[in-house]
Amino acid sequence: MSSSRHAKTLERACDGEHLAIWGLAGQQQLEIVLSELLAERESRGSRVPVVSLLMRGREDAEWIERAVRWLSLRGRRVIVRTRVVMPRPVVTALHQAHGCEDGCEGRRGGGAVVELELAHHKPAIQRALLGQQADPAAALLLQAQHLETLEIPVVARLGPLMPGIHDQGNGFTPLLRNVEAADVSRIVLQIGQLHPQQIRALVDCQRELTAAGVLELARAYGVSAMTMLGGTELPADEDGVVHKLKSRRAQAFTHGLERLVTDAGLELPGCGCQSHCELTPQRAANDYEAGYESVMGRDLFAGLAGC
Ligand SMILES: [Zn+2]
Repeated sequence: MSSSRHAKTLERACDGEHLAIWGLAGQQQLEIVLSELLAERESRGSRVPVVSLLMRGREDAEWIERAVRWLSLRGRRVIVRTRVVMPRPVVTALHQAHGCEDGCEGRRGGGAVVELELAHHKPAIQRALLGQQADPAAALLLQAQHLETLEIPVVARLGPLMPGIHDQGNGFTPLLRNVEAADVSRIVLQIGQLHPQQIRALVDCQRELTAAGVLELARAYGVSAMTMLGGTELPADEDGVVHKLKSRRAQAFTHGLERLVTDAGLELPGCGCQSHCELTPQRAANDYEAGYESVMGRDLFAGLAGC
């Protein structure tokens, strides 16, 4: 299989490469695939101390549970980024990966964090932006409270954020209020790109938006207003096209939203990366003590032998 269809380096985080992995439902040789994805990078001399697992639908629960355990045993920090309420086995795996407090022997994982994907307080727009499987923001935030009682750190990943949908008091502030009400204080902002399937889904639920907002969205992303209002079909030659904000517009938009977040007394990542360094257990002075285990060693061969 081509690994690039299931994984991508998200960023250079503070302590190494931050990898994202998705779409491995039904993968029989999960452990081998995970080993290969890490080995690809480690063989180039990269450390991969943090891995995000993307849970986009219910079918992802099984492989993500196994991946959380596998990665955690090898000292990696695991971030489950989810748009669906997680079933109990995934939560249990995260609880164990995060480790317990005093009195728990053998804690050696790199920690666990949950990112809840929240695009909008209205369920129809949440689904239009994140896909039909996405649960409502309120349901995801209800689970946040359970995760907090297990001391699993929770981060609200707000996005995809788009001008016309998330300007000021319109869509963004209500979402922020829901997050605050659930006692989640850590926020990551993700500015959106506009994909064809999102355009079609937004046309179908445009009565949930204001007309001015829809026009603003069309202008910001360079999509025809007639298409965005549902007057004409998306042209065939635009079917695979992903629309992006111009960089200056994206910067100004981000800056405005960041100010709303900090004015509300909520926290943005302080270290400059999005791998939640500040939420991990205190790192030991070297990798060995922290439990970080390279897959280039015995693991690769153990994996190939089917252990
Ligand atoms: Zn960092």
